[in-house]
Parts: sequence; C-alpha cells; structure tokens
Amino acid sequence: MDIFLTKKETLKCSACNKRIGLGEAFVAESEKHRGTCFSCSPYVKATFLKPGNAALTRRSKKHSSYCGVVFAWNRRRKRFERRGQYVEAEAILKAQRECEADQAERAIKNEKAAVKRAEQDKIYIAEFSKAIRKFYPNCPKNREIAIAKHACEKHSGRVGRTAKAKEFDKKMIDLAVEAHIRHAETNYDNQFGTGRTKRAIRTDVKPHIISTMRKWGGY
Ligand SMILES: [Zn+2]
Repeated sequence: MDIFLTKKETLKCSACNKRIGLGEAFVAESEKHRGTCFSCSPYVKATFLKPGNAALTRRSKKHSSYCGVVFAWNRRRKRFERRGQYVEAEAILKAQRECEADQAERAIKNEKAAVKRAEQDKIYIAEFSKAIRKFYPNCPKNREIAIAKHACEKHSGRVGRTAKAKEFDKKMIDLAVEAHIRHAETNYDNQFGTGRTKRAIRTDVKPHIISTMRKWGGY
C-alpha cells in the first residue's frame, strides 16, 4: 500500500471520516481517492525506515509482511517522491544483520557499477555531442558538450539509455538544444519572480529561441 503526504485538502478517511489535512498521511487503499488516515491504517504499529540505503530498504521490505511506502509531492518536479517506508521492526533488524554480513561484497559491487556508469556517461556525452554538432553545425564551440552533459544528467539512470549516436532522434536533440538556448541565450530565468506567468515568459522568449536554433542549424 502507498502512503501519500497529501497535496490537497479534499481527502477523507474512509474509516473514521476525518478530513485529511494538507501534508498529512493518506493511506491509499486502491486508488488515490479512497483510503484511510494514518491512525486508522495498519501502519500505526509499524516502524518507519528513512530512504538512502537501497539494500536495507529492499531487504526490510522483503522480510516484512507489509510495507507502506511514503510519498511526498515535489512541487517543482510535479511528481510524488519516496520519503521512506513503514515495515515491521523485526524486518529492519533482520535486514540490518544481512547488510552487515555482506557489506564488503556490496561495496565492491557498487564501486564496479559506478565505474561502469561513468564510462557509459562518457560515451553517451561524446556520441550525443556529435549528434548535436551534426544537426547544429553553427552551434558555438563546445556548447554541444554542455548540452550533452546536461541531457546526460537529466536522463541518468533511465532504463535503456542508449549510447549509440544513430539512436538519438532529431526531436530529442531539438528539445535539448531548445532548453539550452532558453536558459543560456535568453533572459528567461531572470523573468521569474516579476509577477509574470511561466506561459507569458515562454511566449516572450520563443522568437529568440527559434531564430537562434535556425542560426545554429544553418537553415
Ligand atoms: Zn481515520
């Protein structure tokens, strides 16, 4: 079951009928609009485990007969993000013992994975830069690398991320270039906090983005 720290005040507990206030825990039974408050949920007797240790999170979930994952709304990213989980205290202890037992082994494995990821990132950036330069031959020197690096960070960890230049489609390149121009070549970022809407600011900088893309693309 999932536990949502609410972003709206319109939810009610289906057991005690209490209104669930903003930021309070809503334990979703099926879909997000039906569920209970935390006091009426089975998790009142559970132990909270903070995120940050992937192995401990995974193992304690495996050993617990129930697991309530807590999600909080990230306003900037417009999505729910994990904030930890409620599991049986006994399950956490068991998971901790397992983690202590194979700590060294996991450290080596994690290190190897990090090295591999760094290598893949390097290839991704090099190939993506090449693809950007191909479609935007007049792009200022080394800008393609900055754009590719940013795209790499943005898509890091995404399953099936490709490192083959032929698989970067034109649309993906255009979007990355467009975002870069918006932030680096217009006053877009400085216009926030001046009372204007995001839509108005976007409309305002759009002509300059289009003309810059044409110039860089040579069309
Ligand atoms: Zn309740």
